[in-house]
Amino acid sequence: MKKTEHIALVPQPARVEAGEGSYTCTLPPKVAERIDPSITGNEAYHLTVKPDGITISASSDTGIFHGRQTLRQLLMTGTEGSQCLLPCVEISDSPRFPWRGFMLDCSRHFYLPKFIKKMLDVCALHHLNVFHWHLSDDQGWRFPVDGYPKLIEVGSKRVNPHYPNTAEPKHWESGFYTEDDIRDIVAYAAERHILVIPEVDLPGHTSAALAAYPELGCTGGPYEVEIRYGVMDDILCAGNDAIFDFIEAVFSTLARLFPGPYVHIGGDEAPTTRWEACPKCRARMKALGLSLPRQLQHWLTARFAAMLAKHGKTAVCWDEVLEDSDKATADTALPKNITIMYWRSWLGAKPALQAVEQGLPLVMTPCNHGSYLNFSQTHDPGDAGSHPECSTLHDSYTIPLYYPGMTDEQKKLVRGGQGNLWGELINNDKNAEYLLFPRLCALAEVLWTEESLQNYDDFQKRLQTHLPRLDTLGVLYCRSVEE
Ligand SMILES: [Zn+2]
Repeated sequence: MKKTEHIALVPQPARVEAGEGSYTCTLPPKVAERIDPSITGNEAYHLTVKPDGITISASSDTGIFHGRQTLRQLLMTGTEGSQCLLPCVEISDSPRFPWRGFMLDCSRHFYLPKFIKKMLDVCALHHLNVFHWHLSDDQGWRFPVDGYPKLIEVGSKRVNPHYPNTAEPKHWESGFYTEDDIRDIVAYAAERHILVIPEVDLPGHTSAALAAYPELGCTGGPYEVEIRYGVMDDILCAGNDAIFDFIEAVFSTLARLFPGPYVHIGGDEAPTTRWEACPKCRARMKALGLSLPRQLQHWLTARFAAMLAKHGKTAVCWDEVLEDSDKATADTALPKNITIMYWRSWLGAKPALQAVEQGLPLVMTPCNHGSYLNFSQTHDPGDAGSHPECSTLHDSYTIPLYYPGMTDEQKKLVRGGQGNLWGELINNDKNAEYLLFPRLCALAEVLWTEESLQNYDDFQKRLQTHLPRLDTLGVLYCRSVEE
C-alpha cells in the first residue's frame, strides 16, 4: 500500500494508492457512478481517479454519497477557478463504526435552521451520519406538540438575564422550529445520508415544559423557563397520570415528523427530591412496591420506551437510567432494546461497562475526553469555551470508545460515538463553530478510520491541508492546537 502526502483526506481512508499522472478538467468533472453489489458494507465505496476519468462504485446510494464526499474534499484542494487538477488515486474505504454523530443543544442556544443546515453539510463532508438534535431542556422547548400550545407560547421563550428590560429577546434565547422547519431539516439531512435523532429530555430538565403546564410537576408550580444552568429539582411528577397523556402527544408528534428509528428520551440528571416529598409519587411507589425513589425513574423509562415502541421507535437514553437498575422489579426492568449514550467522565466509566454487560447497545460520548466540545480546547484561560474544563484536539483524537476489560462480544455493542455541543454559554454561531472545529474533524476520523490506521501526528499534518477546506465553507475553527 502506498500512501501519498498529496491525498490529505480527513478522515483517513482505509486504502489509498497513488496512481501515475493526474486528471484535469473544467468544473464540474464528469463522474461515473456505479452500483456494485459485490462491495461489502452499506457505506463502503471505491473511488478511482485516472487520467481519463473518475469512477465511484458502491453497493448502495449511501456508499456512492460517501465516495462523492471524498471526491468533494479532493476537488476543494485541487481546484483553481474553474479548473481542477486531481492526482490519480485509487481509494477503497468503509467506516469503523455505524454511529458517527454530532449533537447540537438547541434549547440553551436556539440555532436558526440556516446554521443547522450549514453544520449538516460540513458534517457530511466528514462522513458523519447522525445528527442528535437536543430539542428540549430547562431553558427552552423548541418544537410544537399537538394539543399543547403553551409549550410554544410559554416554553419556547426566556428572558435575557443580562438585558431584562429588552423588549425583544436575542434570537438564540427564544424560538422554536415549526413543523415545516423540522421537515425541511430532516429532508436536508436525509439528502446527506444523515439520520436525525430528536431528543426530548425526560423526566428531568423539564422546567420549560413545567412553566407551560405546571400541573405536570409535583408541587404545581409556579415554574419558569430557566435562565439558570445546572440540575433543577423540579421534574415531571411520576405520580400524575396526566404526564403520560402529555408524553404520548410528544411522542406521536415526533414519530410523525422524524422518520428515523430512534427517539432520545434523555434520562439524565433527574433528582428525586420532589418525588420523595410528593404524596402522588409516594403513592405510586407504594402501589408498585418500590423501595427506592430512583426506581420510579426506571418505571418511567420502561413505560416511555414501551410507548415509543408502539410508534415503531427505539429509545436512546443517557447512562443515568442504568443507576441502581440491578434492583429491577417486573414493573421497572429496563427494556432490552434501548440504546445507552454514555456521557460521564471517562475515569468513572462504570455505566459504560454496565450497559454492555446487560447486552445494551452503547454510544460513547465521554464528557471530559474529547466528546464535549463546549469545553475549552486549550488551557489558555482567555480561550473560548463554556466549561472550566479543557478537552484538547488530542483528547478528541484519542476518545476512549472501549472500556478496559470489555470482551470482544461486548465491544460489538459499541455502535460509535459523538461530539456534543452544549449551549449554555454559547451566544453566537461563530462561537459554536470555533468550539466544534477542528475537534469534530478528529472525532470524525477516529469514528470512521480503522484503529490501526489512526496516527495523531499524521492527522495533524493532513489537517493543515484540510483546514483550508473549512475556510472555503466559511467555518471558523480554533488554530491553537494543544497536546
Ligand atoms: Zn410527584
